[in-house]
Amino acid sequence: SDERVQCEGCGVEIQTESPAQVGYVPSAALKREHLLCQRCFRIRNYGEMESIQQNPDDYLHLLGEIANTDSLVVQVIDLFDFTGSWIPGIHRHIGNNRLLLLANKIDLFPKTTKWGRLREWVLKSANDYGIHPIDVVFCSAAKGDRIDQAVSSIERHRQGRDVYIVGTTNVGKSTFINRLIRDLGGINEDVITTSPYPGTTLDMIRIPLDDGKAIIDSPGIVRKDRLSEWIDPKELRMVVPQSTVKPKVYQLNDQQTLFIGGLARFDFISGPRQSFVCYVSNRLYIHRTKQEQADSFQQRHRGGMLAPPTDPNCLPSWKKHVLHLSGKEKQDIVISGLGWITCGQHRAKIEVWAPEGIQVLTRAAII
Ligand code: GDP
Repeated sequence: SDERVQCEGCGVEIQTESPAQVGYVPSAALKREHLLCQRCFRIRNYGEMESIQQNPDDYLHLLGEIANTDSLVVQVIDLFDFTGSWIPGIHRHIGNNRLLLLANKIDLFPKTTKWGRLREWVLKSANDYGIHPIDVVFCSAAKGDRIDQAVSSIERHRQGRDVYIVGTTNVGKSTFINRLIRDLGGINEDVITTSPYPGTTLDMIRIPLDDGKAIIDSPGIVRKDRLSEWIDPKELRMVVPQSTVKPKVYQLNDQQTLFIGGLARFDFISGPRQSFVCYVSNRLYIHRTKQEQADSFQQRHRGGMLAPPTDPNCLPSWKKHVLHLSGKEKQDIVISGLGWITCGQHRAKIEVWAPEGIQVLTRAAII
């Protein structure tokens, strides 16, 4: 028959010919009850994977098909990497379909976060990206927080339609879908592979719903302008926060520098003494020094005290971003895929060094 056999983990089409290509299964393993491609099998059983490149054009083509459907689009965003969560041109690709924003990973935010205010922030920022979501819901797919509200919002807004789950890689799409499947009953084990590594879901996968409709998971688009994409999987768990981020406050004078591991450098060039609050993974070492000593310190300690990365050559060379803050409102300096630094209500000139190609920008403070 010409029926496609899909991997239960990532949804890719199964093949038995070429071990180096995606979807490979040794033919002897075809009789397994739960069919996983070799890649998912390894992730599941050994926690290891080979990286597979995804072609952004293919992904946008897949997304474009959504425009021809009548469905609800759920865009999952990683609240901790809001900047890296955006799919370029999403509003064109989904046509007239309604879009619901699911802001994931709230467990990384302080318990004191004012969700009402953050919701307004997300809505306004979404509008700036040209998106007008019908709803914004918060959840932690991994911890299960607020999943009920998310599910009922989806149920309310889908009105008998199919649901497409879209988003960039690593925002938590697969984790959320595994939750959904468990909450909607039926299957009681993880059927989609989740991992901290980019691009784990490789093809569209349909999860049938009771009313004949389906939840359709898309693979996710890789954004190379996120720092996390460049990090070796072995070091990724240090860079991508795994638990509630503890803000680190630094009172700096001008001409002082902060190194965030070996990933970025923050130079406070001029302005009155003020505090800067770093929101990055708790496991990253932040080193404070005088700016005049920063270059030689970096030369001596890159890959050592200033790590990750232990191999600095895995990153593009650093590029300087010059930022002028007026001090009129609290602002975040965002380094996509790493975190952000909140600046107080004072004038400041700042220079941020980050690997070339990584997005560095300022925004109204998220918290
Ligand atoms: P996908 O590529 O969008 O399908 O993302 P995955 O579901 O594979 O998740 C990517 C990474 O984010 C994995 O390491 C997950 O454990 C992690 N993750 C997913 N949801 C959450 C969450 O709610 N909170 C936190 N802290 N991590 C999450």
